Amino acid sequence: MKKLIMVIVFFTLSFIITSSFLPNNDIKDKNSEFNHIKYFKSKNADRYKNYKSKFPNKKNEEIVKEVNIGLDKPFYRDSSPAKNLNTQYVLVNKYNFLSRDYTPSNLVEVDNTKLISYVAQKFNEMKNEAKRNNLNIVAISGYRSFDYQSTLYNKYVTVDGRKKADTYSARAGFSEHQTGLAVDVSNGKSPYYSFENTDEFKWMCNNAYKYGFILRYPKDKEYITGYIYESWHYRYVGVEAASFIKKNNITYDEYYVMFIDN
Ligand SMILES: [Zn+2]
Repeated sequence: MKKLIMVIVFFTLSFIITSSFLPNNDIKDKNSEFNHIKYFKSKNADRYKNYKSKFPNKKNEEIVKEVNIGLDKPFYRDSSPAKNLNTQYVLVNKYNFLSRDYTPSNLVEVDNTKLISYVAQKFNEMKNEAKRNNLNIVAISGYRSFDYQSTLYNKYVTVDGRKKADTYSARAGFSEHQTGLAVDVSNGKSPYYSFENTDEFKWMCNNAYKYGFILRYPKDKEYITGYIYESWHYRYVGVEAASFIKKNNITYDEYYVMFIDN
C-alpha cells in the first residue's frame, strides 16, 4: 500500500512538473494543425482555421503569416494604432495607422521634400553613388502630413472613385509618407510613374538595399500590400531588414510579422 501511494505521488508530481513547463496555449491548441508553425499566435487560432477553409491550397506557413498581417479581414477593417513609432521599423499599412497629430521628429530637406535626418543621410549617400554612375535619383515626395494626405486622397476619390483610389492612394493616417521614412523618386526627366523604364530604376533594384531602402509595393504582391505595383515608392527599413527582404523576395508587411511583431 505504501509503495502504491509512493508511485501515485511520483506520477502526480511528474505530471505537475512537466505541465508547468508547457505554455498553456500549447495544451489548449494541441489539436490545431497550426500550433507548430513558426509565428503561430494562439489568439489567432480560430482565424487560421477560417482562413484555411477559404484558401485550402495555401500552405499553413502562408496562412499563419497572412492572418498575422490581418489579410483574413478586408483592408481597413479592425485597424490598430501603429506601434514602434519613431523607429525605422514602424509599420503603416491598411491595418496600422498614425494619428492626425503624429509628426516624425528631425525632418530635414532632401531635394524638394523632407525625410527624417538619418533617412535623408542614407538617401543622399545612395544618390551620390548613383551620380558616380551618371544616374540621377531625385526625391520628389517624402514626408506628408495627415492633412495633406487627406486632401490628396480626396482629390483622387473625386477623379477615380473610392474603390480605384484605394489601390494607389492611402487614406489619411494610413500613408507611409506620414512616417518620414518613405520617398517617391524619379530621374528628374521622365514622370515618376515611368520610373520602371529608367536606368535609375534598374540601378535601385540592385543597390537600394545597401542603403537600407526597399521597393515597398512590388509587383504581384498587391494582395498583401493593398497597393498596385509602384516602381517609384521606396521605404527605409535599415540595411539588415532591406537585405533580408530583397534576398527572400518578401514585403515589409511579412517581414514585420516575422521579426518585429512576432
Ligand atoms: Zn509613395
